[in-house]
Amino acid sequence: MLCFDSVALRHADGTRALDGVSLDVPAGQFCVVLGASGAGKSTLLRTVNGLARPTTGAVRVQGTPVAPRNLARLRPRIGMIHQQFNLVARATVAQNVLCGALPAMPLWRMLPGLFTDTARRKACALIEAVGLGEEHLLRRVSELSGGQQQRVGIARAFMLDPPLVLADEPVASLDPQTSHDVLDLLRRQARERGATVLCSLHQLDLAREFADRIVALRKGRVVFDGAPQAFGPAA
Ligand code: ADP
Ligand code: ADP
Repeated sequence: MLCFDSVALRHADGTRALDGVSLDVPAGQFCVVLGASGAGKSTLLRTVNGLARPTTGAVRVQGTPVAPRNLARLRPRIGMIHQQFNLVARATVAQNVLCGALPAMPLWRMLPGLFTDTARRKACALIEAVGLGEEHLLRRVSELSGGQQQRVGIARAFMLDPPLVLADEPVASLDPQTSHDVLDLLRRQARERGATVLCSLHQLDLAREFADRIVALRKGRVVFDGAPQAFGPAA
C-alpha cells in the first residue's frame, strides 16, 4: 500500500531528518510513527504527499512513485489530518468538509457554490459520522472546540474515500480525554472505510492503545518496528 525504500532526507543545513528508512505499510493498517520532537515524524509523512523530497531513496503509494509528475494523480488518494487542523476558521463546518473534495475536481468546479449534490450529501454524512450533529453544519469552525475542529478535519480527510490517510500529530494540541476520543474516531472511520493510516504521535500510551503497529523514530532512524505489545519502555 505504502512503501518507503531506503529513504534519506538531508536538509540544506546538513540536518539528517531521515536516515535509511525502509517500511512497507500494508492496506488497512493503523501504523503509528512514534518519536520525540525532532525525530523526523513530520518529515516522513511529508515525503508521502510530496511536501518533502527524499535526498535518496523512494516512496511509493499503491506502486506509484511520489514524484512531481504523479502528485496530481496521488493527491485525491491521500487524506490529510494536521496538528493545527488547517481549517478555514471563518467558513462553516460543511464548507470545510466539502473542501476535502477539491483535489479531485476540475478547476471550474472550484468556483464557490458548484459542489455537486452528491458531494454535499457525502459531507453531511461524514459530519454525522464524526459525531457532529446537524446543528453544527452551518456553524463557523472558529466557534468550535479543538476536539470538534479535529473532527471536522477528519471528516474532510475522508471526503474522497482515500485509500491512505496521513495524520501528523492529530491530537498534539488536545487534552488527554479529547485526544483519546479523536484517535478512537479516526481509527473507527479508517476501519469502516478500509483506509490505511500513517499517524504520528509523541505519546507512548496513545500509540500503545491505538496502533496496529508502532514504528519508532529517533534522529531520523527506525529504532523499533513491530506490534505495540512488543514495544518496551526501553525501546
Ligand atoms: P518531528 O516531526 O518528529 O518533530 P521533523 O520531521 O519536524 O521532526 O524534523 C526532523 C529534523 O529535521 C529536526 O532535527 C528538525 O529540526 C529538522 N528540520 C525540519 N525541517 C527543517 C528544515 N526546513 N531545515 C533544516 N532542518 C529541518
Ligand atoms: P513539528 O515538530 O510540529 O513538525 P517543528 O516545530 O519541528 O514542527 O517545525 C515547524 C516548521 O519549521 C516545519 O516546517 C519544519 O520543516 C521547520 N523547521 C524545523 N526545524 C527547522 C530547522 N532546524 N531549520 C529550518 N526549519 C526548520
